[in-house]
Amino acid sequence: MPTAYKRILLKLSGEALMGDDAYGINQGVVSRIVAEVAEVTRLGVEVGIVIGGGNIFRGMAGAASGMDRATADYMGMMATIMNAMALGDAMRVAGVAARVQSALNVEQVVEPYIRNKAIRYLEEGKIVIFAAGTGNPFFTTDTAAALRGTEMEAEIVLKATKVDGIYTADPNKDPAATRFSKISFDEAISRNLQVMDATAFALCRDQKLPIKVFSIFKPGALMRVVMGEDEGTLVHI
Ligand code: UDP
Repeated sequence: MPTAYKRILLKLSGEALMGDDAYGINQGVVSRIVAEVAEVTRLGVEVGIVIGGGNIFRGMAGAASGMDRATADYMGMMATIMNAMALGDAMRVAGVAARVQSALNVEQVVEPYIRNKAIRYLEEGKIVIFAAGTGNPFFTTDTAAALRGTEMEAEIVLKATKVDGIYTADPNKDPAATRFSKISFDEAISRNLQVMDATAFALCRDQKLPIKVFSIFKPGALMRVVMGEDEGTLVHI
């Protein structure tokens, strides 16, 4: 069976690395995610990953407690670098070829983001982990996913969340809520559904880059998404 996509951009939130812990990085959870990603790369799918930082620090939280927002955002970006290093190292342990590239320069520990080099790594079958978001404050790693997805000419952005798709209402509050198998960008806007933040969503829409929202905590879900099965919710043009 051929895969549905040749190149994907996976957005992992910092919370995905946390598992059930209250803070930080849960190595067991990271290993499981690495194994799932490795499985799809073995089918020849090229994988870029944008990693969040919310498990460690969020700029908004810093600003809410009185910090300068831009400074707090830079701290948030640094948090994503730590997550990227943890993920990259877990890939090394698992024998999976991966490279970390950062939008903020920390040359002693990770290489800088260089688009052509990232594309070459993908073509070589290496996973590229994009750290430090867009490199700019006042953005999010969702926007970084839309941006890197576009730059890498990925066919789709896979947004890994805790919930297995987009629902008519919050499934934790409303038992009658049903999952959309697919929905257009326009319908998602008119129904006021939160898919990604507004900047990320607008960029994907402009660039005609579909988004798939799925649960990274559901075993095998990533593989089913890559095989084009009815898993999660597809947001299409
Ligand atoms: N951030 C930023 N610019 C970016 C990406 C991230 O300033 O391009 C900062 C921002 O403070 C954000 C934090 O890094 O709160 C962590 O990223 P995000 O909240 O997107 O992580 P996630 O929610 O995916 O774990």
